[in-house]
Amino acid sequence: MARIFNVVCPHCKGKFQCDYQDLRHKKIKLLCPYCQTEFDQEESPLIEE
Ligand SMILES: [Zn+2]
Repeated sequence: MARIFNVVCPHCKGKFQCDYQDLRHKKIKLLCPYCQTEFDQEESPLIEE
């Protein structure tokens, strides 16, 4: 089973899941599925691992 983490969008506060292996602690911008905002995970107000 793939490991995931939850991230909260800094723009719309929507929470969504990302693949941990592919995205966590990487310099890749995350794309919010609700408002289409791209942001660095450091900008997220909440990350649940
Ligand atoms: Zn958003």
